[in-house]
Amino acid sequence: MNTDVLVLGAGIVGVSVAVHLQKRGRSTVLVDRRAAAAETSYGNAGLVQREGVYPYGFPHDFGALARYSLNRTIDAHYHPSAIPRITPFLWQYWKHSRPARHRAIARLYARLIEHCIVEHDALAAEAGAQDLFRRTGWMKIFRTERERDTRFREAEQWKIDFGINSAFLDRKAIQEKEPHVAPVLVGALHFIDPIAAIDPQAVSLAYLALFQKLGGRFMQGNAGTLEPGWTVRTVEGSISARDVVIALGPWADVVTRRLGYDLPLAVKRGYHMHYRAAGSAVLNHPMLDQERGYFLAPMRAGIRLTTGAEFALRDGMKTPVQLNRAEPIARELFPLAERLDADPWMGSRPCTPDMMPIIGRAPRHERLWFAFGHAHHGFTLGPVTGRLVAELVCGEAPFVDPAPYRAERF
Ligand SMILES: Cc1cc2nc3c(=O)[nH]c(=O)nc-3n(C[C@H](O)[C@H](O)[C@H](O)COP(=O)(O)OP(=O)(O)OC[C@H]3O[C@@H](n4cnc5c(N)ncnc54)[C@H](O)[C@@H]3O)c2cc1C
Repeated sequence: MNTDVLVLGAGIVGVSVAVHLQKRGRSTVLVDRRAAAAETSYGNAGLVQREGVYPYGFPHDFGALARYSLNRTIDAHYHPSAIPRITPFLWQYWKHSRPARHRAIARLYARLIEHCIVEHDALAAEAGAQDLFRRTGWMKIFRTERERDTRFREAEQWKIDFGINSAFLDRKAIQEKEPHVAPVLVGALHFIDPIAAIDPQAVSLAYLALFQKLGGRFMQGNAGTLEPGWTVRTVEGSISARDVVIALGPWADVVTRRLGYDLPLAVKRGYHMHYRAAGSAVLNHPMLDQERGYFLAPMRAGIRLTTGAEFALRDGMKTPVQLNRAEPIARELFPLAERLDADPWMGSRPCTPDMMPIIGRAPRHERLWFAFGHAHHGFTLGPVTGRLVAELVCGEAPFVDPAPYRAERF
């Protein structure tokens, strides 16, 4: 079978690329080895982070580094056995996180981030998925005045530099907005504009349904069988296409290495667990317990507790120690009842050392396109990347200058 474009990987990024191609009249086949959005795009915290202009950097203060080296914190954890393999990546990540470089990256990254809500809203409207989003914004909550004041100052600067809207909440304002949260907080930063999915997988599935309604086809297949030309094997036989888009998230290297690309990719793994809210307790906003390092997101399936970064090999053993450390602290903050999942879920954020995704034409192959490496913001940026890649594949003027995100930078 022949088609115009093959999109490999049906997470939020691949689905968004596919729907944008199909909208432009390109006959598109989307291929995944599993069901759509069953991996990283299933279990994230569901935020569309309009405020996320500074991608998450590697800490540069020695106090934090010393704490992380003990491997006892909640927000970060590492597998000692993985360190030799990931040290080159960490070293590059550390260098790109130096304050001046991080500021320069934020200016480039903001050009993608600024479109995240508009692009989600456009797809959600077409897909009839608006009800899957809450428009409450989200909160960073603080337990000490020092952290609160630092983050308030930072937010003031983001407002000046990038127009990021936020409100500073004192104890009383927090209690009014979140009456079931324990009165242990000294303040909160409320990012007003971000939207939050109540079921991130359902969002991807709604965009997939739109893609199929427009005539796109979704097939099970193995991206590892991709041969230049371009042909891939699926359960419905071999599919050939003029263009192919790699949107394999944390598995992108499985294909790019075979094609001769040595890209500096790594993962930050993360976990989640759902809880029933005890009694009649309600959590009105997603919230990051900034100084403890875990996130609570009210979802359709319950309160989803998500963890920070685990530095490990993608296929290394599952070690949900951060979840076990966070759970008792979260229970003191908000009345969580029993766990609702049999096992913690684990996913892998697909990362690059400069914290920006790799988007655009592959350097050494005709009609091969990259769309991966979205790290902490793949759900946020899926529809932005989807539109940008579709415009590039179709030879349209791109709505965002793609130059900063191309693979040649490595
Ligand atoms: C705990 C946690 C919380 C997060 N919270 C947020 C958040 O609040 N907001 C946000 O924006 N982002 C968040 N993220 C990040 C976000 O989830 C990811 O950046 C995003 O899901 C990546 O999407 P993707 O489509 O690139 O990859 P994926 O969703 O992983 O999709 C890749 C697809 O490729 C398929 N695949 C792999 N190998 C093959 C093969 N050989 N053949 C065929 N198919 C294959 C997989 O089955 C999968 O469907 C979070 C991540 C984690 C782990």
